[in-house]
Amino acid sequence: MRPNLLGCTRVAALVACALLLGALRADAPPRVRVTVDTEGPSTRLVLTASRQVSAAVTASRGKIEIVYAEPVEIQPTEGRLEDALLLEWSLRGDRTLVVHTGPGYREYEVFNLRNPTRVVLDLEGDRPARGAGPRGTEGRPKFVVILDPGHGGVETGAIGPSGVQEKDLTLDLARRLKAVLQQDASVGVVLTRDEDRLVPLDERTSIANHNRADLFLSIHLNSSKRRKAVGAETYFLAPDSTDDEARTVAALENRAYASVDSPAPSAGETQPGLDLVLWDLAQTQYLAASSRLAESIQAEMNLLAGTKNRGVRQAPFRVLMSATMPAVLVEAGFISNPEEEARFQGEEHRNSIVQGIARAIAQFRQGVLRLDMPREEKP
Ligand SMILES: [Zn+2]
Repeated sequence: MRPNLLGCTRVAALVACALLLGALRADAPPRVRVTVDTEGPSTRLVLTASRQVSAAVTASRGKIEIVYAEPVEIQPTEGRLEDALLLEWSLRGDRTLVVHTGPGYREYEVFNLRNPTRVVLDLEGDRPARGAGPRGTEGRPKFVVILDPGHGGVETGAIGPSGVQEKDLTLDLARRLKAVLQQDASVGVVLTRDEDRLVPLDERTSIANHNRADLFLSIHLNSSKRRKAVGAETYFLAPDSTDDEARTVAALENRAYASVDSPAPSAGETQPGLDLVLWDLAQTQYLAASSRLAESIQAEMNLLAGTKNRGVRQAPFRVLMSATMPAVLVEAGFISNPEEEARFQGEEHRNSIVQGIARAIAQFRQGVLRLDMPREEKP
């Protein structure tokens, strides 16, 4: 009997052990990525978590503390800035981030956002005006914008019911936007393509990085099985899509010719090399600024459409991943919708879209902050 009993005990122990391991894996601490944007009038600190975790924010003299409800892995664990509002931040224990405010700091605003879970902390106060900095020297434009007209060549992108091709419309919008932006002599604009040709996604981002651009904007037109789908949507990068529709949009856009080494997969095939680890991507450190740019553009697009209900969305767009500057993708409208397709055939609509984006870029540059994201209650 005894060996039998022992055997039973061993099996039970193994099962218990496996259950415990499973439980441990499910409880792996969420990773929290810290990004800072000091270009706006306020200094924005964004803490993006790999899964849902609640956090409380408290302020005392000279510091603000963000305390998570459970242990987290914060990356990077500390940072130091030359900023009048935020001097440094560091990890205390395994769930608290301590932010030391600067001499110009007056007050803070905090927003808890979902998909992904984020704490957005805006530090407000007085900051001395900035000079043009080294970027303004050597005859280089002070502010370089890369416009990326989606698709091209054999890759038509979406096609509207009466035959409007996404690749033609994106190029036309990019050319119009370039003309508007360059009315400001301090702005330089580079197009990733200025003709009807195929440019791999990776090459588009390389052009932006090579030009040390201040902003990357990929322009697309949406298409949906829902014939009534209408209006513009602005996206920035995330490892997970905010919803099923965002996931579909990213899958469609990622299907484009990715690089010289990896030709476009056929429909239904998954894109190679897209198993995203957000923390390793070049774009990660610009997410706070990218979200601010996306908010600005989407606010203008909402004004144009007379709607308030569309927010900024996030999805894993390949063309944004390696960008070393604030980078967003705008789906300027649904050409699958016959009425919207007809509107895009006229100059007036194209021009108002372009004017709206140009205003948003100017606001982004001036650091005018507009929050137009799904908010949870303020603490
Ligand atoms: Zn597209």
